[in-house]
Amino acid sequence: MRTTGYVFHPEYLWHDTGTSAGLMPAHPTAGIQPAVHIENPEAKRRIHELIHASGLLGELVVIEPRRATVAELTRVHIDTYVQHIKTQSELRGGGGDAGDGFSPIGRGSYDIARLAAGGLIELVTAAAQDDITNGYALVRPPGHHATAAQGMGFCLFNSIAVAARHAQHLGLTRVAVVDWDAHHGNGTQAIFNDDPSVLTISLHQAGCFPPDSGWTHENGIGDGLGYALNVPLPPGSGHAAYLHAMHQVVLPALDRFAPDLILLANGFDAGVFDPLARQMLTAASFRDMTRLLVGAAERLCHGRLIAAHEGGYSPFYTPYCALAFLEELAGTTTHVTDPLAAVVAGYAAEPLTPQQEAVIEEAAQLLPRIQTTVAAS
Ligand SMILES: [Zn+2]
Repeated sequence: MRTTGYVFHPEYLWHDTGTSAGLMPAHPTAGIQPAVHIENPEAKRRIHELIHASGLLGELVVIEPRRATVAELTRVHIDTYVQHIKTQSELRGGGGDAGDGFSPIGRGSYDIARLAAGGLIELVTAAAQDDITNGYALVRPPGHHATAAQGMGFCLFNSIAVAARHAQHLGLTRVAVVDWDAHHGNGTQAIFNDDPSVLTISLHQAGCFPPDSGWTHENGIGDGLGYALNVPLPPGSGHAAYLHAMHQVVLPALDRFAPDLILLANGFDAGVFDPLARQMLTAASFRDMTRLLVGAAERLCHGRLIAAHEGGYSPFYTPYCALAFLEELAGTTTHVTDPLAAVVAGYAAEPLTPQQEAVIEEAAQLLPRIQTTVAAS
């Protein structure tokens, strides 16, 4: 019987991303009418409410988040960047941008982003103490694009990276980060690029975001060579391609690495209705991928699998993907099924293409570089 932890906090919905028109900062004189930033609370609110309404919440161990300390953040971020976010978020009306023009800092976002990272920290602590088997932190803002010195892609602090360093601090020295968000986990990769104690594996849409990032030749540097894996899947990839990548790259990489903990950068924006990518996963895809990852965690690290919410921008479909994921993580089902299952079945039936198979094979060729005997940093 698995015990699954769940972290959520109303403040996660209070991270204020302002009046951008989707991705574009409002600029009336340039012809950009104010609207709603695409990274807004709605999808996350609906995920939480569906977890509650489905009855699943009652089967989870609710864990209260806390704010990550500056000392915990500066294990992965430089001090001046942390102070920049703090200073900006104290301004009336919020501050500027975390780095790339798409990542607003709202008033108070510093504390909320610390609460997001701290939610992951609390889940990792609970898993290390065997209070839970696995867990999911439904947090905002997301984190996997943030590098040591810069926020980007709506991300302020890299919560997954902070959680990985926290795990190592607790003695879980070998940490694997699986990232199936539709966009490249560039920040996490950059933070651990030369570190063989943290294996990063990113499945994402090729050439999507960040631009020109996440190619297979990005394979780590120095002592970390071999410990960054990328599977840049062509636009239009769906169930068959992602499952093939799980079997050919993710699972064998985890088996070779033998982690003490698996972290999951859990974006749902490879879902078929997502506005920020062009992949075709369904709720059933996320369920099947989760089953494989849970199996790997049980085989390799006492079931320890901790997930951080990342992307997922369809307010209407993302909640069903998240529910399928969380049901599978907890080893249970609810009365709620994907109401669009019949509609999306045709997308999910798309067979593996030679182009998808080739890039997956290219990534699989790099697996022998992963050793199981590297020393922890
Ligand atoms: Zn994303």
